[in-house]
Amino acid sequence: MNKRDMRKYERALLAEKQRVLKQGRVTDEVMDAACPDVTGDLSSHRSYTADQGTENYQREMASRFKTIETDTLRQIEDALKRIADGTFGICVSCGEPVPKARLEVVPHARFCMKCLKKRPR
Ligand SMILES: [Zn+2]
Repeated sequence: MNKRDMRKYERALLAEKQRVLKQGRVTDEVMDAACPDVTGDLSSHRSYTADQGTENYQREMASRFKTIETDTLRQIEDALKRIADGTFGICVSCGEPVPKARLEVVPHARFCMKCLKKRPR
């Protein structure tokens, strides 16, 4: 991969990182809203249609998003490190180049499609 492409993906990764961090703040707000007991202000958070089930569901979803975010951030950091040491764009499993079409969609991709499919989930 040439330097210009590296730069491009580095920018994409930094933008993606910002997006995830921003999304993380939104998730925190959802978490707060889903836990009115923590804020102590019931009236502003609890509408008359919301029941305990909805709140539990929101909390559940928010914590699930949180896990995905943390995971994504780690992968983005990893990819930025690979850009720094020049191994970016190479499948960490088989050493083949990761197709650019894939990097366009997932700049922090670590595996080529072949290895991704082989990985146990
Ligand atoms: Zn591979």
